[in-house]
Amino acid sequence: MTVDVVVIGAGQAGLSAAYHLGRRAPRADVVVLDANDGPGGAWRHRWPSLTLGGAHAVHDLPGLPLGEVDRDEPSSRVVSRYFDAYERLFGLPVRRPVRVRSVTSPDGPDGPLLVHTTTPEGDVDVSARQIINATGTWDRPYWPFYRGRDVFRGRQLHTRDFRSAEDFRGQHVVVVGAGTSAVQFLLRLRGIATTTWATRRPPQWTDRAFDAAWGREVERSVAARTSAGLPTLSVVAATGLPLTAEYRQGIADGVLVSRGMFTHLTPDGVVFDDGEEVRADAILWATGFRPALEHLAPLRLREPGGGIRTDGGVVVERDPRVLLVGYGASASTLGATRAGRQAARVAAERLGSRTIYDE
Ligand code: FAD
Repeated sequence: MTVDVVVIGAGQAGLSAAYHLGRRAPRADVVVLDANDGPGGAWRHRWPSLTLGGAHAVHDLPGLPLGEVDRDEPSSRVVSRYFDAYERLFGLPVRRPVRVRSVTSPDGPDGPLLVHTTTPEGDVDVSARQIINATGTWDRPYWPFYRGRDVFRGRQLHTRDFRSAEDFRGQHVVVVGAGTSAVQFLLRLRGIATTTWATRRPPQWTDRAFDAAWGREVERSVAARTSAGLPTLSVVAATGLPLTAEYRQGIADGVLVSRGMFTHLTPDGVVFDDGEEVRADAILWATGFRPALEHLAPLRLREPGGGIRTDGGVVVERDPRVLLVGYGASASTLGATRAGRQAARVAAERLGSRTIYDE
């Protein structure tokens, strides 16, 4: 099979790219390959108590607003339903479950890319003039290494594995990480389990109310890293943790107070710098995610600094046939939506397509 553009991933970024390609390059052959069993991108897998309307919000996809959400309904359901309706309304060419194992360039930089996939029917290769990679981060949880990780006898899990605070009733849980997920877990566990908060750096609380100007500032600082070929920094790491009334209360109650970082794990818990051992039944690693890009390894896109140098999503110099969306500064639902539009514009221009609309 040969197509003009393969979009890899049908999350916010991939759907936005596919929608805009449908308008910018209506005659192009486009296919969206998604590893999931159904619509929703990473949201499909978020734990049931993660809802929208509080700390979490999803930006509208182009052409169909999400509308009012029920703050009690799990975001996994809300977003899966929204993406499903979206894919159907615009007739997006999504194929699933199709996992891209690797992308190669058998004929050199002037030939097509070969996208190697695994489908329920077997392995299929798709030849593509360009790819828009929108694989997010959910498939690549980051677990930092600490001595003793193998000797701890309790349960260790990552954000990705969390289902419900009830699973920890009566236990002592060490929550690791200084991001929004860690804060949400600590608050959710309150009254059900006791907790210790472990962070490498002090939590970056901020009084600043998030507004468009700040959003642009953060995007610029994250984008500066990707255009320099440095590893990505999460957008949340750059914004800090906005001090809501709930967070202030959590700090006052001592729940949202970091104990610093432990040096190593023991069979029964963790040991902090001052030598104190804190016993734990579980360690919850809310230590974030990295871009899920292993399938692009054969293209050798990485710079010596460890990151991939992009400009407006295009992998400059190393392989301009590859566009990355939802990467670096666009790793939020707002950024992913915008990046999808930008990538579709670039891809359509390269195909020499006539657009059917002006934005
Ligand atoms: P995803 O939604 O991860 O979609 C990627 C898709 O690609 C998936 O369907 C996956 O199956 C598919 N895929 C991956 N690898 C392959 C492969 N090899 N082959 C084929 N398909 C593949 N952002 C916000 O703006 N607001 C929030 O409230 C918010 N809350 C968050 C909460 C958590 C716990 C986390 C981890 C992130 C949160 N984010 C939030 C960030 C946000 O989820 C992302 O920026 C955005 O949803 C990601 O969209 P995406 O399209 O880039 O990736």
